[in-house]
Amino acid sequence: MENKMHNVIIIGSGPAGLTAALYAGRAELEPLVLTGLQPGGQLTITTDVENFPGFPEGVQGPELMQKLTKQAERFGANILQENVVSVDLSTKPYKVKTDASEYQAKSIIIATGSEVKWLGLENETRLRGKGVTACATCDGFFFKDLDILVIGGGDSAMEEALFLTKFGKSVTIVHRRDEFKASKIMLKRAQENPKISFITDVTILDILGQDSFAGIRIKDNKTGEERDIVAQGYFVAIGHTPAVRIFKDAGIELDEKGYIAQKHFTQTNIPGVFVAGDVHDHRYRQAVVSAGEGCKAALDAEKYLTQNENE
Ligand code: NDP
Repeated sequence: MENKMHNVIIIGSGPAGLTAALYAGRAELEPLVLTGLQPGGQLTITTDVENFPGFPEGVQGPELMQKLTKQAERFGANILQENVVSVDLSTKPYKVKTDASEYQAKSIIIATGSEVKWLGLENETRLRGKGVTACATCDGFFFKDLDILVIGGGDSAMEEALFLTKFGKSVTIVHRRDEFKASKIMLKRAQENPKISFITDVTILDILGQDSFAGIRIKDNKTGEERDIVAQGYFVAIGHTPAVRIFKDAGIELDEKGYIAQKHFTQTNIPGVFVAGDVHDHRYRQAVVSAGEGCKAALDAEKYLTQNENE
């Protein structure tokens, strides 16, 4: 274990984690940021971000995260590309174990975000990476002039579908209802795109294909009729689940939906352990909200450290 006692360790490096690092850095707390497997978080695998304030022309997700990283580093944040495997919050100082080392800190900010949700069908897992994927910006290029399915009815599904029209011969959005969660503007863009079509009110019964993805078997929810849809690409975009696995045995209280609960402002049920961003927030899930929460968590951690200076 490293000897140094950190004031605050920030777990996660999306908008919440890096904004927390920026504020903790400016408060001269010398925060240690452990990035996780995807430094910069989910925005690094997205393209245009049109709704982050201050960018009238929009900004590319990876560029925004690079800027935020530099801004946090400018104020003394130490950002390490390590993945946290477990935490011990049972006694102070709190301990954080990564794939490379072990660290101790007086306070922790959890900003681990969320992970891709899959339908959970056996063949979906088996064919992952073989035509089955969850990231249009990462894999879209491989589906040039092919028929692509996008699963979901929210903004993510619309965004993925629109992006995939650059590559695919056709893009079909497959959704379980005939109403959409997606915002009006995103839905309208998808509906107006000549390459995109919709199959709604269906249940996906199976994923087809031996060595690579070949299509899906669906059931019409109204008529019960079953049929197969032939395609070569399958992009799941049905939302995310909070990344709480490493806190499973750490005594952190979750809310009824399985997200980490805030008990006193951004503090969790454990004193000195704070939470910000999508791992806590199942309602808004926006980069700007996560950034705001990261700011709040850092301010709360600073206050906590001042009040508990002698511990
Ligand atoms: P959402 O929760 O908004 O939508 C998920 C969609 O997947 C819903 O249509 C849902 O169906 C469907 N779904 C969920 N579980 C299943 C399942 N087991 N089987 C089949 N379908 C399922 O998630 P998103 O990732 O789309 O968006 C999350 C947040 O991020 C939102 O706040 C969104 O606005 C935001 N976002 C904004 C973007 C932008 O502004 N450019 C881009 C991407 C995301 P049902 O409707 O029936 O529940």
